[in-house]
Amino acid sequence: MRSIAIINQKGGVGKTTTAVNLSAALAASGVRVGLIDLDPQAHASLHFGLGPQQDLPNTYDLLTGEKTLGDCWQSVEENLWVAPSHIDLAAAEVELAGVVGRELILRDALTENAAAQNFDLVLMDCPPSLGILTINALSAVDDVFLPLQPHFLALHGLSKLLQTIDLVHRRLNDRLRLAGVVLCLYDSSTRLAAEVSADVSAYFSEGAERQQPWLSGRLFASRIRRNIRLAEAPSFEQSIFKYAPTSAGAEDYRALADEVLALYGLQQTPVVQAA
Ligand code: ADP
Ligand code: MG
Repeated sequence: MRSIAIINQKGGVGKTTTAVNLSAALAASGVRVGLIDLDPQAHASLHFGLGPQQDLPNTYDLLTGEKTLGDCWQSVEENLWVAPSHIDLAAAEVELAGVVGRELILRDALTENAAAQNFDLVLMDCPPSLGILTINALSAVDDVFLPLQPHFLALHGLSKLLQTIDLVHRRLNDRLRLAGVVLCLYDSSTRLAAEVSADVSAYFSEGAERQQPWLSGRLFASRIRRNIRLAEAPSFEQSIFKYAPTSAGAEDYRALADEVLALYGLQQTPVVQAA
C-alpha cells in the first residue's frame, strides 16, 4: 500500500476536488482506494453523500480514540472507500494538545488497519492549515501531492509548507517525500499559466540541487483545467465520472490517474460498468 497526502495550506486551490476525483479515477482503473477526509469542513465526505445527519464513525472519533480506522470506512463506489470527517474535527487541535504522541495517531491507525483493508492506495484530503491534522497526515504517508493554482503568487507562501515537510521528514517520518505538484484550475489560454508552470518546474528541480532528499517532486504533466462541471459535481454527490463522464474535468483527472498509476507501477484493470 502507498499513501498520499494532498496538501496546501491555502484554501480553494483544488485539494478536495483532486482528492475526490483522483480517488474515483484510480478506483475506476481497478485499484483499491481509501480516501481519508481530514478537513473539518468535510467537503470530500459530502461530495460522496456522507453527511453529518448519518452520524457515521469519522476521523474525529478516530483521532480521539473512540473508533478505529476500520470502523470509519464507508463504501462509496466500486473499489473506493471513504473515512468521513465531521465538523467536530475542528476542535481536535485543542483537544489533542496534551496528548503524548498526538502527531502519530493516524500513522498507527493506518498501520494497524492496512492488512485488513488491503488498499493499493490511500489518499488524504487535508485542511487548509499546517496544524495537527496536517501533521498527522504528513507523519502517516509516503508521499505528498501539492495542488497549485497557477497564479502569480502560487509559489508565495510555499516556504512554510516546505519547512513543515522538512521537519516532519527529519523528526517523524523519514519516508516522506514531496512526490508531485498538480496544477489545478488551469486556464490554458493565459500566458501566465505557462509561465507559472515553468517557474514551478524550475523551483522543484532547484530543490533537488539544494539536496533536500524529500523534494523529489515532479510537476505532473496533466493539467486540471478550469471546468464548471467539476464545481457542480459536489452538489450532486457524485464524482466527475458519474456526473459528467465526458467533461474536460473527467478527462483531466483520468489523465492524472494514469500518471499516478505509472508512478506507483500499478496495473490498470478498468472496472467494467454494468449496462
Ligand atoms: P480546496 O480543497 O483546496 O479548498 P476545492 O477543491 O474545494 O479546494 O476547490 C475550491 C473551489 O473551486 C470549489 O468550489 C471547487 O468546486 C472549485 N474547483 C476546484 N477545481 C476546479 C476546476 N478545475 N474547475 C472548476 N472549479 C474547480
Ligand atoms: Mg478542501
